[in-house]
Amino acid sequence: MSNRICCVVNYNNTYKNSKNVIFYSFPNRPHEKNLKDRWVKAVKRLDKTDRLWQPMAHSLVCSDHFIGNRRSKDPRSPAYVPSVFSKIYKRQSTNKQQQNNRYQRNLQRQDNKQRVFLNCHVVIPLTVHNHKC
Ligand SMILES: [Zn+2]
Repeated sequence: MSNRICCVVNYNNTYKNSKNVIFYSFPNRPHEKNLKDRWVKAVKRLDKTDRLWQPMAHSLVCSDHFIGNRRSKDPRSPAYVPSVFSKIYKRQSTNKQQQNNRYQRNLQRQDNKQRVFLNCHVVIPLTVHNHKC
């Protein structure tokens, strides 16, 4: 049994639980590079370093993400690029992820500030006249 799974975040389509779903691999031929980029941007998955995730050779997108539930090979068709994603997916994959990253960065920044602030206060009584905080 192959272990195929849709790469879309929070999407749990696998071969086992989705009988009517077709799995498409990312366009991988040299002349399809633009199309692949469009798919990657559409999927909007981020890697661990917060950059746009790049599909691997075995990465798959299921037909649920194409208008009409089928991928079209016609560039004029809206189903040429995956565009159907659940609201949950959208929120979690980009906004929430980014929000969380921002939140973490802010926490760190505040932490740093607080430390500077505390240091400052510790320093003040000793150098009241020329501290630069
Ligand atoms: Zn999917």
